[in-house]
Amino acid sequence: MDKNVRVRFAPSPTGYLHVGGARTALFNYLFAKANGGKFILRIEDTDRTRFQEDSLKEIFESLKWLDLQWDEGPEKGGDYGPYIQSERLDLYKKYALELIENGNAYYCFCTPERLQKVREEKEKNKEKQGGYDRHCRNLRDDEVKSKLESGIPYVIRLKIPLNDTVTFNDAIRGEITYDTNQLDDIVLLKSDGFPTYHLASIVDDRLMKITHVLRGDEWIASAPRHVLLYKALGWEPPVFAHMPVILSPSGGKLSKRKGAASVMDYKKAGYLSEALVNFLALLGWNPGDDREILSREELEKLFSLERVSPKPAVFDEQKLEWLNSQYIMEMSAEKLLEEVRPLFQAEGIEKEDEFLIKLIGLMKQRVRKLPDFVNNTKYFFKEFEEYNAKAVKKRFLKGEPIKVLETAKEIFENTDDFSAENIEKLLTLIAEKLELSPGGVNPVVRLAVTGEGGGPDLKDTIELIGKETTIKRIDKAINWIKNRG
Ligand code: GLU
Repeated sequence: MDKNVRVRFAPSPTGYLHVGGARTALFNYLFAKANGGKFILRIEDTDRTRFQEDSLKEIFESLKWLDLQWDEGPEKGGDYGPYIQSERLDLYKKYALELIENGNAYYCFCTPERLQKVREEKEKNKEKQGGYDRHCRNLRDDEVKSKLESGIPYVIRLKIPLNDTVTFNDAIRGEITYDTNQLDDIVLLKSDGFPTYHLASIVDDRLMKITHVLRGDEWIASAPRHVLLYKALGWEPPVFAHMPVILSPSGGKLSKRKGAASVMDYKKAGYLSEALVNFLALLGWNPGDDREILSREELEKLFSLERVSPKPAVFDEQKLEWLNSQYIMEMSAEKLLEEVRPLFQAEGIEKEDEFLIKLIGLMKQRVRKLPDFVNNTKYFFKEFEEYNAKAVKKRFLKGEPIKVLETAKEIFENTDDFSAENIEKLLTLIAEKLELSPGGVNPVVRLAVTGEGGGPDLKDTIELIGKETTIKRIDKAINWIKNRG
């Protein structure tokens, strides 16, 4: 436990929050919790060209749905705010100028056209360091001065020390060393006066007293530049931990169809946020044994960077579905109703809670996603058009279904007690009367009453469907069989 731990999730509002981003947020959150530290949300919106208005709303909504509440950040405040970079713009330039002063950065006046040419040239020659060619790095002071005075647009670049190596210790991957000649002189301040991600994020991590930077593996190549930038500013870098890449089961990168969908898409598809959190936690982390179902409390207690593997994590949608079914089974029908009610309403189904709770209780062992509650229960609410063809062959076109149904009708008509308990007794009675096994009766009755070959417990199903509809449907089935035969 290290109560001084301060971690941040620092999304750029350039689109929705996808699964990879949510995993980053979750690992940061769990790491803070496991250490009794703080989880900070910071919005990195200095790249105005990629800014998307709705994105911010969606990021907040997604984090709230996953119940990843931040201790400091937008909407919440904190001692180190503001937590949105576009509200902190005045802050960054000073550090870029300080770096010019101490010789660790320089003005670059290259035009976009020149930079484009350099890039093309380097690509053609397959050069290792594909970035900027350091053209303005050695301009004389008087040249710089006159260019500044004549108002030529400029950026400020970090002066990466050449012919050297830079080493840092990644908490997940161990020691990583780079040859500095392969690193380009990254831009710190853009020509519009805005800081780049690199400058803003390092300044903010410092000012917000971030102790650990947990982020996706796509940032590894930036880490050596960041370490050098810290050094140039005379600051101690935080601990870096780059999480493993998430691959699709076939080994490729996640595509929108396979896993890279937004967090809110998973909500819409009928996943419980608890199940998604459990699933995300296991994308690269494990509890040290083969447990796969872990409560939020367990995750918050057990999470550690030592148990995060650098190996690629596989996004297995089947597993997510399975986890979801397990969470649905464990959840009370009352709580599930809160999630499912809007889905019933969207289908125009308005039934009293008592009925819906019973139905959910009946179904929850058999569904994988929330819409299954609606899609697989249609016959509880309205007449079905067709009988399941496979079941018809087995149950209506063989044996003596008419005899079974006529007996069932008679027995059901003669009772006022349509409780599941009594229906069970009556089903046994029908079998006894006809000298059949329950297997010769129940599936025939089920097919007549639900149109299906399988489903939840029959006595409960019949109780919920009710006497009137049950008898009406048995009648209908008798006629159907007679007309076919
Ligand atoms: N704003 C960066 C992103 O969108 C954050 C990278 C980092 O965590 O340093 O992924």
